[in-house]
Amino acid sequence: MRLSRYFLPVLKENPAEAQIVSHRYMLRAGMIKQQAAGIYSWLPLGYRVLKRIEDIVHQEQIRAGHIPLLMPTLQPADLWRESGRYDDYGQEMLRITDRQKREMLYGPTNEEMITDIFRAHVNSYKDLPMTLYHIQWKFRDEMRPRFGVMRGREFLMKDGYNFDIDREAALHAYNRHMVSYLRSYERMGLTAIPMRAASGPIGGDNTHEFLVLAQTGESEVFYDDRVTALKLGQRDIDYDDRAQVAKVCEEFTTLYARTDETHDAAVFDTIPDEHRKVGRGIEVGQIFYFGTKYSESMGALVVNDKGERVPVEMGSHGIGVSRLLGAIIEASHDDKGIIWPEGVTPFPVGIVNLKQGDSACDAACAGLYKALAAKGLEALYDDRDERAGAKFATMDLIGLPWRITAGPRGLANGVVEVTSRRSGESEEMSVEAAVDRIVQIYAGR
Ligand code: ATP
Ligand code: MG
Repeated sequence: MRLSRYFLPVLKENPAEAQIVSHRYMLRAGMIKQQAAGIYSWLPLGYRVLKRIEDIVHQEQIRAGHIPLLMPTLQPADLWRESGRYDDYGQEMLRITDRQKREMLYGPTNEEMITDIFRAHVNSYKDLPMTLYHIQWKFRDEMRPRFGVMRGREFLMKDGYNFDIDREAALHAYNRHMVSYLRSYERMGLTAIPMRAASGPIGGDNTHEFLVLAQTGESEVFYDDRVTALKLGQRDIDYDDRAQVAKVCEEFTTLYARTDETHDAAVFDTIPDEHRKVGRGIEVGQIFYFGTKYSESMGALVVNDKGERVPVEMGSHGIGVSRLLGAIIEASHDDKGIIWPEGVTPFPVGIVNLKQGDSACDAACAGLYKALAAKGLEALYDDRDERAGAKFATMDLIGLPWRITAGPRGLANGVVEVTSRRSGESEEMSVEAAVDRIVQIYAGR
């Protein structure tokens, strides 16, 4: 993409309404525009990152054996009357009446609808296990929408639902979700710690929230800091292997890590002083095992291997896709702007032409752009007629992890400069070597 032809409405001034750094940088980098309280348009740069995050979530869910589908945003109120939640949900639910006077709602979540789909088509244990998920916009009329996309009213969520014949199988589904979530967050460059959560209105005893540590987080967290060093890495996981998946979950949930809702001071105090930490965290996901709550009330029964009709065992599992942009920025930025991890960056690399209109510079940049494209990497090429300082400031603000700079002086010696956004370090090399370097960095992503 040539910047001269792109739509990147960066702001020079700090927007007054933004209280936290991620909101400020998302506005300044031209990623989002607020349309109403807690409701945003996703401008091209923000939309690219949102799509990258969605892609990672899809890939990891599919790897875990979960099946994508798509349910609508609008739902009939009657479905929610069956589970009893239509009245329980309260003011967070946006209720709508259509021209036929039918009561509808903008879905805050989809347990009822997925249970309705399941009961219409599945009635034997032979069709299980089954996990269905979608990535769809949700609406919750939050009392205090704030911090940009972190607490929106309309927000994008991945929500998945498992259907299993018994508790053991459902707990395996729970564990599969935990591992696939850990892998998703790691690919986004994040450390998200599973913390035991309180079950809340959905009910059920097994539930974990995934928290990204950040000063600006809304949850108070208590943890043994050795938990932050745990990494899934590239290890090979067989999602059908119950014992292996359970072992990974055990590895990630044994050290103390809890939010204020489940915090137990007596246990916390047994952690050695130097590892005992109190901080704040951003909830980027939650997994729940709740058994037969919806299948019983809504009549989602399956025939088991003894020929009995039993309510199916379920759980629901969510990732805050749009909130993740804010969480990633909170975890990865400096005073010049965003620093995108390679896994989610809107463009893998930026090209800065220091002297637009100079034939050697223009040719070198065009050549770089083309060579990267031939390798499947779409660079953002700053081909505007601007000062070098302004170009660097834009690149730093929007946070592409790598930058290639081409200027007349370097090119006279046959070199361009490759700069890491994170370390700030630069290295001179030939155009070919620069392309190879960037290709190497993104190999296998
Ligand atoms: P919170 O406690 O932050 O209000 P929640 O526990 O009500 O969230 P869940 O029902 O667990 O939310 O939804 C799954 C995920 O969706 C959350 O972990 C969070 O990442 C994201 N999410 C929830 N509410 C919002 C919101 N208002 N704006 C953006 N993301 C949200
Ligand atoms: Mg939650």
